[in-house]
Amino acid sequence: MRLKRFNPANIRVGRADGGGSRIPGGGGTVGCGTLVIVLIGALVFGVDPGQMLGTLENVQQQQSPSAAPQATSTDATALCTENAYSLEACNALDSLNSTWEPLFRQASISFEQPVLRFYNGTGQSGCGAAQSAMGPFYCPADQGIYIDTSFYDQLDKQLGAKGDFARYYVVAHEYGHHIQHLLGLDSQVRSAQQKSPSQANALQVRMELQADCYAGVWAGKNRNLIDPGDMEEGLTAASAIGDDTLMKNAGRRVTPESFTHGTSAQRMKWLKTGIDTGNEDACDTFSDMS
Ligand SMILES: [Zn+2]
Repeated sequence: MRLKRFNPANIRVGRADGGGSRIPGGGGTVGCGTLVIVLIGALVFGVDPGQMLGTLENVQQQQSPSAAPQATSTDATALCTENAYSLEACNALDSLNSTWEPLFRQASISFEQPVLRFYNGTGQSGCGAAQSAMGPFYCPADQGIYIDTSFYDQLDKQLGAKGDFARYYVVAHEYGHHIQHLLGLDSQVRSAQQKSPSQANALQVRMELQADCYAGVWAGKNRNLIDPGDMEEGLTAASAIGDDTLMKNAGRRVTPESFTHGTSAQRMKWLKTGIDTGNEDACDTFSDMS
């Protein structure tokens, strides 16, 4: 995708590992006084699937949102230009903000930008420790998108998902979880999971597929910026990270009851639905359980 360079005033970026500069920000934390259980909607690629599945089964105790440093746009330029991957992520973030914010405004729903937080190896999030083995993830407690950019090398080399669009898809998927959070879908899903634990995994899969669809919607709303080959890069990435494919590649038996993100076919289907329609209303993955 031909994304323009980020505008530091239109993104919120920080670090999750104490590296780089840490600038106290003015407010903006998400209020949550009590300890609640949150599911990390982790989009995990490129890690040992055995470990990954273990990670995804976990529910993590939410910690104080103040555990993660405040971010401001002041140091966005320095953080975003650390390497080529961070630059891409910031360019995507700017475009995602510019795409989604007006939709919320039109719908009179309050909108807040997520904070992109980079870390190397390990870091701290409002949802507990961040570890690169978890892959990129979204933490609703602090509305943070957490990325260790070394993950993109794994995406390319271990999973064969090449190209800029594969990487944009990662950010756009996590942003999709932010959309779900702003709409209150994540808490609805969590209470549904608590009511019917046997459906917990199936519901988690629908959440993930919707985030895939929202990622596609972002691209679909910017289709004038799409390059030839982008769609294929995205679908290749979506296929590479399907639960069934990850299990097969790890030499494991494919067990649908333990799926957390959906099959390769499902992930490709919903990413494509988003891109093709460019319409967030097409992302009702919960009513269409096929
Ligand atoms: Zn996800």
